[in-house]
Amino acid sequence: MGCDVPEPGRVTRPLVRWYARARRDLPWRGCRDPYRVWVSEIMLQQTQVERVREYFTRFTTRFPTVESLARAREADVLRLWEGLGYYRRARQLHAAARTIVADHGGEFPRSVEALRSLPGIGRYTAGAIASIAFGVRAPIVEANSRRVLARLVGHAAPVGGVAGDGPLWEVAERLVPARDPGLFNQALMDLGAGICTPERPLCPRCPLAEVCVARLTGRVAEIPAPTPRRAATIIRETAVVTRRGDRVLVERRGAGEWWEGLWDFPRAATAPRGRRLGVVTYTVTHHKVTCTVVERAARGPAPRPTRTHRWVAPRALDGLALSAPGRRIARLIATGED
Ligand code: SF4
Repeated sequence: MGCDVPEPGRVTRPLVRWYARARRDLPWRGCRDPYRVWVSEIMLQQTQVERVREYFTRFTTRFPTVESLARAREADVLRLWEGLGYYRRARQLHAAARTIVADHGGEFPRSVEALRSLPGIGRYTAGAIASIAFGVRAPIVEANSRRVLARLVGHAAPVGGVAGDGPLWEVAERLVPARDPGLFNQALMDLGAGICTPERPLCPRCPLAEVCVARLTGRVAEIPAPTPRRAATIIRETAVVTRRGDRVLVERRGAGEWWEGLWDFPRAATAPRGRRLGVVTYTVTHHKVTCTVVERAARGPAPRPTRTHRWVAPRALDGLALSAPGRRIARLIATGED
């Protein structure tokens, strides 16, 4: 791959020593329960550690085992996930729990390959579960370790995605030790989170400073190369709060839509007449959405509820798994403020 990978012992030894005194105190650490490792890793994808802390504790208190998660209703899982975003993760977590119970007798598979066959478990999550919970010598590359590895070997090409990360997986594969691979992987992630940070890394305090190619060649600020950002797409939409007596209409987001399976307020193709409640703005992937919220009254008897439409009292919206904009519209209804 054209990069110099240091002799593994020169990385492993100082890194693991550093980790012994500097490790982060996180609620999913210090235990080898694959269920807890798995839930934390899925939550940590695209979500900050501090936010995950609180969700992880709540989630594992409510669903302490893979069996309890498998038995849960999807709506309850989504409700607990609300606010973490990327709900596909929650649905896949739930689906994988059911597969583990149905096909594996409630026991997690131990190999990376078998773990990767489960819904929502990719190469990184499988490596994390296998190495941390089962001591399998499996590498990992995620947001923090990707940066450390790229700098360590002076890998200046853009990273991320299957092609960009390929060379870093090779580096990780060569470095991960047979003894305590999970400890090494967690140390790599913690180093990236606390020392080898994206901006102004603390190289003088880094246990890998003596072998780090980026540091030794003065290229720390250039590595990893920034990924080109996609321009934001601007969207304007109108959400309709339809009232019938003391109830409002909600609809469930369909397959393939953002927030699939969650409840929300219907969107109108053309702006309907009605009272303007306010404006909610939100961002999804690279879309910036400005949503005008309009309230209107419906007449006649309420149709029967269906799987996709319900009439609910505004105070009952609290107990419903709503999309992120749906939750903010609910707040607008309740308080007049977003
Ligand atoms: S020496 Fe600096 S750039 Fe290199 S791994 Fe350590 S913190 Fe990162």
